[in-house]
Amino acid sequence: MIYDYLIVGAGFSGATYARMATNRGKSVLIIDKRDHIGGNSYDFINKEGLFVQKYGPHIFHTSSKIVWDFLSRYSKWNDYEHRVLVNLGNKEVYLPINIETMEKLYDRQFTPENMKEFLNSKKINIKNIENSRDVVLSQVGKELYNYFFKNYTKKQWGVYPEELDASVLQRIPVRFNRDTRYFEDKYQGIPIDGFTELFEKLLDNKNITVKLNTDYKDIIKEINFKKMIFTGPIDSFFDFKYGKLPYRSIDFEFKELNEEFFQSNSVINYPNDYDYTRITEFKHFYFQKNKQTIICYEYPKSDGDPFYPIPRQENRNLYLKYKRLADNLDNVFFTGRLAEYKYINMDKAVENALNLFHKLES
Ligand SMILES: Cc1cc2nc3c(=O)[nH]c(=O)nc-3n(C[C@H](O)[C@H](O)[C@H](O)COP(=O)(O)OP(=O)(O)OC[C@H]3O[C@@H](n4cnc5c(N)ncnc54)[C@H](O)[C@@H]3O)c2cc1C
Repeated sequence: MIYDYLIVGAGFSGATYARMATNRGKSVLIIDKRDHIGGNSYDFINKEGLFVQKYGPHIFHTSSKIVWDFLSRYSKWNDYEHRVLVNLGNKEVYLPINIETMEKLYDRQFTPENMKEFLNSKKINIKNIENSRDVVLSQVGKELYNYFFKNYTKKQWGVYPEELDASVLQRIPVRFNRDTRYFEDKYQGIPIDGFTELFEKLLDNKNITVKLNTDYKDIIKEINFKKMIFTGPIDSFFDFKYGKLPYRSIDFEFKELNEEFFQSNSVINYPNDYDYTRITEFKHFYFQKNKQTIICYEYPKSDGDPFYPIPRQENRNLYLKYKRLADNLDNVFFTGRLAEYKYINMDKAVENALNLFHKLES
């Protein structure tokens, strides 16, 4: 059989493309080297009946009606709105910084106007913004930098903000209102039956064949296809010809607990204490009622599964060398966070795959 498409990777990028292609009557073989579909958005139900997100907390949010409408054909959503608490030892406050954060931090009342004045009096004038430390200091000053950004960045990226490109903390959101939500997007939520169920529905079509536990390199010679959509790491596609693209990785440590709730919020960040960056309690996302709970600690590290591309100019240049090779292929197309060496949210992965489909098939 000759497939119209071989799609490598069954995350949001690959699964979106697969569905669009079969909606046009194309045949698709989609493969993933993992033992499940869903890519990094994969979730499952453990033996206590609790949802677990295997690759850390994933919350869907988008301002794109096109993306929302597309995915809403395959799942209903709950109305979860994400909030992040930051544990500062003796206080827990919401991030992004907003009026409520300021009131709790400074034990006084703020209006939008005097919060602006207050921050203006704290911020440091830096003529040439050279790194992420300069970015934050010039926006909110040293105190808030020390509370929220300095040590968190060190844990997350392995280096302090002064060693990171200005682009990493390019613009920290500060709100002069009482909106404590983490995202401002119009559409937000978690699929009511979980992300993996959404993927099952996306890929449920007679023209889609799913093959798991398979690295495409092991079967590529045996498969006939017209076009390939590649959503894996671009450097591995070219056998690391120019060297490895660096990523930051994470160790996830899960704990099942015999108590109803461990913490008051789905995600609590720990910028200044402990080795982990944050603790997630998944049941808040899914509004689950259960006598047990499951939590996840995140320990960033430099090697392991590729999660966050490291935003440095030299890495970008290396990626562009691979991109040039990719652009010269006529039947292989690259999309997704690994193929484009770029941190993207789930909605962007869907949007990019939709755009690629329209480009190739219209
Ligand atoms: C810790 C963390 C938290 C996040 N939280 C959020 C969030 O709250 N909201 C949000 O919108 N986004 C979030 N994201 C981003 C989200 O994970 C990505 O947007 C999404 O995974 C992108 O989908 P993708 O299909 O491009 O990549 P992936 O989901 O990574 O899928 C790529 C797939 O390709 C497969 N693959 C790779 N190489 C091969 C090969 N050689 N052969 C076969 N298969 C292969 C991989 O196994 C993988 O399943 C988060 C990311 C991380 C790391």
